[in-house]
Amino acid sequence: MENLRLLAISCLFISVIFSACKEDELACEAFHWTYEGESNPETWPSCYSDCAGSDQSPIDIVGAVADASLSGLDTDYASSSINLVNNGHSIQQNYDMGSTLTLNGEAFDLLQVHFHTGSEHTVNGIRFPMEAHLVHKSSTSGNLAVVGILFEEGAENTFLAKFIDDVPEEENKNFFSSTLVDISTLLPSDPGYFTYAGSLTTPPCSEIVTWFVMQTAVEASSAQISKIHGIVHDNYRPVQPLNGRDLKSFN
Ligand SMILES: [Zn+2]
Repeated sequence: MENLRLLAISCLFISVIFSACKEDELACEAFHWTYEGESNPETWPSCYSDCAGSDQSPIDIVGAVADASLSGLDTDYASSSINLVNNGHSIQQNYDMGSTLTLNGEAFDLLQVHFHTGSEHTVNGIRFPMEAHLVHKSSTSGNLAVVGILFEEGAENTFLAKFIDDVPEEENKNFFSSTLVDISTLLPSDPGYFTYAGSLTTPPCSEIVTWFVMQTAVEASSAQISKIHGIVHDNYRPVQPLNGRDLKSFN
């Protein structure tokens, strides 16, 4: 009798736990992460545990240590047709295969470039009006290398000018054109960068990214920046603690 009671109590206990887990699972299936409101960045770890990791991005770039063993980015960029998507979180240009960044002999393919307004990385606490992320992936390790390019307001940007009028304003809309864009024209002429080991800045926040944030900002007109901001709004994650990671610079 006592055994039966114990069994009944444990089953009740297990079923309570189980249904709680199931509710969490269902809540996470329906979780659409955002930058503001109920599903803001503070809540991301409830469904994406990596977002609470110790090596997260973006960061405030301060106190970088110059490393003479580093060299300029080894890029081999080709042009691409225009293939824009508004994915509800950003405006993204999916890049044709054939452009690579090589790190220590490992080739990373450029997959896409997307935009954040304002910048995700800050420098000495200063946020720039926009940041582009050039996302490269190694087909051997699956790791990512992301080049961050900061923008300041100024002259019209020739790379953006090729497609700014065609950026899809509605979520899940695409725009295709055979017009060619060349990502190398977006890089600043100064090869200096900051580098550190971090994560995706959006869920699932996987800590598989080697970051390279270019030290010199490039220019875009206020109309170009406003056009993108008007669609994606403030789509930047707050800066995350460095937690003792190396932050190096190539000058
Ligand atoms: Zn990004």
